[in-house]
Amino acid sequence: MFENLSERFDGIVKRLRGQGRLTEDNIADTLREVRMALLEADVALPVVREFIKDVKARALGEEVAKSLTPGQAFIKIVHDELIRVMGEANDGLDLAARPPVVVMVAGLQGAGKTTSVGKLARFLKERKQKKVMVVSCDVYRPAAIDQLRTLAGEVGAEFFPSEPGQQPVAIAQAALEQARRQFFDVLLVDTAGRLHIDAEMMAEARAIHEAIAPTETLFVVDSMTGQDAVNTAKAFDEALPLTGVILTKVDGDARGGAALSVRHVTGKPIKFLGMGERSHALEPFYPDRLASRILGMGDVLSLVEQVERSVDRDKAEKLAQKLKKGKDFDLEDFREQLLQIGNMGGLSSLMDKLPGMRDIPEQVKSQVNDKEIKRQIAIVNSMTPVERRKPDIINGSRKRRIAAGSGTQVQDVNRLLKQFKQMQKMMKQFKKGGMRQLMRQFGGMGGRALPPGMKF
Ligand code: GDP
Ligand code: MG
Repeated sequence: MFENLSERFDGIVKRLRGQGRLTEDNIADTLREVRMALLEADVALPVVREFIKDVKARALGEEVAKSLTPGQAFIKIVHDELIRVMGEANDGLDLAARPPVVVMVAGLQGAGKTTSVGKLARFLKERKQKKVMVVSCDVYRPAAIDQLRTLAGEVGAEFFPSEPGQQPVAIAQAALEQARRQFFDVLLVDTAGRLHIDAEMMAEARAIHEAIAPTETLFVVDSMTGQDAVNTAKAFDEALPLTGVILTKVDGDARGGAALSVRHVTGKPIKFLGMGERSHALEPFYPDRLASRILGMGDVLSLVEQVERSVDRDKAEKLAQKLKKGKDFDLEDFREQLLQIGNMGGLSSLMDKLPGMRDIPEQVKSQVNDKEIKRQIAIVNSMTPVERRKPDIINGSRKRRIAAGSGTQVQDVNRLLKQFKQMQKMMKQFKKGGMRQLMRQFGGMGGRALPPGMKF
């Protein structure tokens, strides 16, 4: 995500580093580049104008003139300004209201409302320990109701049934009644969208809103629609008292303009980012972390959270104990690590957050894929238990057998063994702290200590 903007800023940052002093002249050049970068990222024009104006005022001020490293002072200003534009701090859902807390989503058809309701249900269940009910008021497409039913089943949320032919307002009211009677903490209300903004859709959304008085009214918008996202946001903001925004399909959006514009245009905070189709692909929105990501400083905090959430604590603890006792990290442990990377949403989602990733050539990055991880797991799977515990006994003929058993080549087995050795060595260094320590090290080393499967 935000690859383009990030790349442009990288160039600007590198050039600035070489400057001893910032003068009106070279500031003007740099500002022109920043402006171009923002426009290319499809950031709305009024937002770009204000951004440049504020950065300029601060860049020409004392703070930078007196700084020993004006380039870095300038970057800090851009960083601060990015954070300001995106809304300063993370704004979570208001869950303190009297239960059931009602959360309604609205937005155009295909924006990702139903998917986001599924993701939110999972998020609230797993990370906030809430009892969640979901309901669909999309009576225009029977498939839409079934879609939510399936999602609810997947994430273990209560599904309040509805049918085409019923009135959307009546459905929402009945669901609220039931959620109250059965003491649900949260009721998530999915609504119908249209392909374009239209008066009927807005009227319906308003009627539902009036009937159930939600605590949170979230506008769901596809970040790939760029400038259009901003216009739709404006229209919905005028029709409904929005409390926040969910920006979806950020995983496929190289430009990122919507993330930088929506807040400015609606005054409403982005609360979540949709980062993929599956139900775990939802991230709370942190402007500061995203600003760092855009400027290529990585987002180690989110990475650590992602790891902490998905790592199996018992297994991690067992491994830490084992290493502490001076026992070697073996291939069985290696396999476990590979499986856990899979659980965390794969390598690409981790890579995105590591600092320094941008300096790694694209053709190298493209080799890092989750297929490679699957292949490595297959290789370890076709080893015998003794081989996994004592990798040293794996000789030529064993290698041939392992390769044949996993549908790979002997050189693949060799490569895996080599990576395993490196990992084993690394594990010796992290004897004490376990996974947490390891992740801290990731940050400090600028992404040089990479998980297995990243072969560079
Ligand atoms: P709705 O009409 O607003 O309810 O939209 P849906 O929830 O049915 O989503 C429309 C399509 O977008 C589906 O194919 C989803 O899988 C996809 N989608 C939703 N959110 C995301 C996301 O964050 N990333 C990606 N890549 N796809 C998404
Ligand atoms: Mg839908």
